[in-house]
Amino acid sequence: MNIELQCCALFIIFTIFVMFFREKRLDLMNRKLFQSAVIACFVCLAFDILSIVLINMSVHNGFNSGITRIVCKFYIMLLVLQGYLGYVYVSTGLLPREKAWAKAVRIFFHGIFALGEVLMLLLPIDFTASGRVVYSFGPSTAVAYALSVVYIITTISITLIYRLKMPGRRFIAMLLWQGIWLLAAVIQFIEPELLLVGFASSFGMVILYIQLENPSEFLDGSTGLFTTNALSVYVHDKYRFGKSFSMFAAKIHYLTAYVDYNIEQSAVMRTARALVRLGPEPAFRIDDDTFCVLYDDKNRMYERAANIKMQKDNVTDLPAKGTYLLIPDSLIMSGPDEFFRFLHTYLESEQEILVANEDLVMELREQNNIKVLIDDALKNDRVEVFYQPFYNVKKDCFDEAEALVRIRLKNGEIVPPGRFIPIAEETGQIISLGIRVFEKVCLFLSKGEAEKYGLRQVHVNVSAAQFDHENPTGFVMKNIDRYHINPRRINLEITETAAAQSREIMLLNMNRLIEKGVSFSLDDFGTGRSNIDYFVNMPVQNIKFDYNFTREFFNNEKTKHVLTGMVDILHKMNMGVVAEGIETEEQVKVMKDMGVEFIQGFYYSKPIPENEFLAYLKDHNGDA
Ligand code: C2E
Ligand code: MG
Ligand code: MG
Repeated sequence: MNIELQCCALFIIFTIFVMFFREKRLDLMNRKLFQSAVIACFVCLAFDILSIVLINMSVHNGFNSGITRIVCKFYIMLLVLQGYLGYVYVSTGLLPREKAWAKAVRIFFHGIFALGEVLMLLLPIDFTASGRVVYSFGPSTAVAYALSVVYIITTISITLIYRLKMPGRRFIAMLLWQGIWLLAAVIQFIEPELLLVGFASSFGMVILYIQLENPSEFLDGSTGLFTTNALSVYVHDKYRFGKSFSMFAAKIHYLTAYVDYNIEQSAVMRTARALVRLGPEPAFRIDDDTFCVLYDDKNRMYERAANIKMQKDNVTDLPAKGTYLLIPDSLIMSGPDEFFRFLHTYLESEQEILVANEDLVMELREQNNIKVLIDDALKNDRVEVFYQPFYNVKKDCFDEAEALVRIRLKNGEIVPPGRFIPIAEETGQIISLGIRVFEKVCLFLSKGEAEKYGLRQVHVNVSAAQFDHENPTGFVMKNIDRYHINPRRINLEITETAAAQSREIMLLNMNRLIEKGVSFSLDDFGTGRSNIDYFVNMPVQNIKFDYNFTREFFNNEKTKHVLTGMVDILHKMNMGVVAEGIETEEQVKVMKDMGVEFIQGFYYSKPIPENEFLAYLKDHNGDA
């Protein structure tokens, strides 16, 4: 009998079936569809074999032909079901969900499937068997052939149309799967003795299983947890179907005791095991030290998270601190992109436990708006540099100034740096922004007008992040050379945070620039942790007293002594002092009496655009 190929195929499908169900699986829509396709393929093959056996029995041994007809009908109906599931498997996630035309396409294909199944059931069917040629025919079979061809062609077309929306390997797997089916159907049509369709469908399943549903890339080799890739697919899937989920995420900082790789690895394993022990929900390792578990129900998440906290409090031999992020309802984020942005941003938070809420999402959106604003300003040349003159007490003129960045909106409004510098520092945009500001300052100096009106030096702010970057001094020297600027005209303002980070590298870079003639100031002195060590060992020319520090002078007797003493010490160390934020005549007088060299503040001028600044210099310094 002509059933050898079918038996082989049945065995193959059975193997896939066993492997697929034994694996650790994520509850994804595609996987559910694949599961249905495997089951349909298995049952279809079983009916294929049964129908061949019964046809032979009816033709040769007089078996009841009514039963054989029913089995033949079931077989072809299942065959069409397979084609239909193939179409659903491919089109889900590719056809847009909300578009009216896509809905119409979906309804059409569901409709012809239902209609086809009813027709196959009602229309007559016949069969024949002679030697190895065994097949059914008649109107019912014709409907089955027609529908199968429609589904295969539709599936191939969708695959081709949306090829750019799927990874290359998915595209190839889909085409191979459908192509093999089509080829088998054509061969079987021409040569009815070759019953290839059943075998081809099982072969197609093998391709899909190996290429798409094999979860090895979804599993983290060392912990057995799901990977970031798996999380990404899972989260996209949930959002696509509008399903809410909850997440418990933890970024664990294994304390410095774990310097040894093996010990750290075992700590990671213990964390992973603890997560798996929490329950059947899927656990992911999304970074070396970041884990998360997803829940369908937020109460369950709260319950589990409380468990973790208890375990952590009881286990004292795991020296780890962490940031724990609870997301009770994923739908407060607009989609997967915002979800991942949220996850990565808030896992970096300094807080130990953070619960996602609408305010945090709004904050993130605001941050993202600013990020877009900075990119847009860089692209469309809307980054501007304002200048604020410093009054030189000894020389009674304005020979230094600070360059302060602004972004000009399309409507002419100005955005102050306080709103975008901290975000630019977080996103890394500070690198491009810093380069742009420095370029503009060099261009301004290269025109020579400011120099003509007595400007000797411009101070440019540099963030810590700009020093973390590879070759941080490159952009300074490049622009100084390009615009033929005397390096002595440039003073870079750094802050204590900059100086505190990778101090060695910082010093190396500073000295490189100092050799060329560039000088440095320590900005914002008096805020945060002021450490005498910073300026004792830092090659800075000036110390800038922060706005709040100088302000305190007038409110607090003790600060008065500290400030006066500090100015004295700095002078003994040959450093100059710039007092920031001076707004009144009285403040000017006090600063002068204290012996401060430079005074910067609204009393003299706010930061102003380039042309106003030139006019200011001209008015106050005259032709120097
Ligand atoms: P900063 O470097 O300490 O700059 C001094 C700030 O004090 C400026 O604010 C200035 O407008 C303000 N200021 C000066 N005198 C007075 C005064 O008398 N009263 C008051 N109320 N404020 C005064 P601005 O321009 O808003 O800049 C804020 C901060 O943004 C700067 O503080 C600096 O840390 C940062 N920044 C500005 N431009 C850049 C830049 O190009 N790169 C980097 N990395 N940071 C920058
Ligand atoms: Mg500054
Ligand atoms: Mg300052």
